[in-house]
Amino acid sequence: MLFDKEKLEEVLTELKPYEAQLVAVSKTKSAEAIRAVYDTGHKLFGENYVQELVEKQVLLPKDIQWHFIGHLQTNKVKFIAPFISLIQSVDSIKLLTEINKQGQKNNRVIDCLLQIYIAAEETKFGLSFEEADEILYSDKLKDLTNICIKGFMGMATLTDDENQIRKEFTSLKEFFEKVKSTCHLSAVDCQLLSMGMTSDYRIALEEGGNLVRIGSAIFGEREKSF
Ligand SMILES: *Cc1c(COP(=O)(O)O)cnc(C)c1O
Repeated sequence: MLFDKEKLEEVLTELKPYEAQLVAVSKTKSAEAIRAVYDTGHKLFGENYVQELVEKQVLLPKDIQWHFIGHLQTNKVKFIAPFISLIQSVDSIKLLTEINKQGQKNNRVIDCLLQIYIAAEETKFGLSFEEADEILYSDKLKDLTNICIKGFMGMATLTDDENQIRKEFTSLKEFFEKVKSTCHLSAVDCQLLSMGMTSDYRIALEEGGNLVRIGSAIFGEREKSF
C-alpha cells in the first residue's frame, strides 16, 4: 500500500473545523507514493532533505506545493529557490539573507516561517523567542524585499506528557499572536502557525495551530528514524 487513504481522509476531516491545512510529509517516501496521494486531490507536501526534494520535484506535477521542513544549509538554498512554496525552517538571519538573495535571482518573493525552539530537548533546531524577536526587529529585515515571514513553526517535545506538549504549543501560539498584533513590517505577514505531527497534531489544533505536518500516519512508518 502506497499510503493510508482512510487515514488521510480522517485527518482532512479533523482539520476542517479548525480551517487548518495539511502538509503531507513525504520524506523517504517514493515519488510514486506522493503521486498516489496527489491523485486524491491533495497538493501540499513537505520534505526535509534538499537533494531528495529536488529529485522528486522534477518527477512530479508542477502544481504541487512543496514545503521545506528540515534543517536548511545556506549553500543549498539555491537548489530549491526556483520552486519552493514555503520554507518552514528558517533559523538565522544569515539563512534568511541567502533566501532573499536567491529570491531576487529567481525574481520571486519566497515565503518563510521562523522555526522556534519550544521543546525541552537538546536535539531540535530553531530560534528562541528572543532570537526570533531580534530577527523580526532587526534593521536588516527592512532590506530583504524578496522574502516574506508568514509565521512560525515549532516541534514539541517527544513525550507522552500531554500537558508538557500543550504548554509548549501554547507558548508558541502566544508568541505568534504577539507578533501578529505588534509587527507591521512589509516583510512580515503573520498568518501561519505550523505545529503538530502524527503524534501530537490534535493537541496542536486545539492550541491554535493552522498548519500540521503529518508523515507516518498517512504514508506509514519510515524505515530510517528521523
Ligand atoms: C518528519 C517530520 C514530520 C512528520 O513526522 P510524523 O511523525 O511522521 O508525522 C513533521 N515535521 C518535521 C519537521 C519532520 O521532520
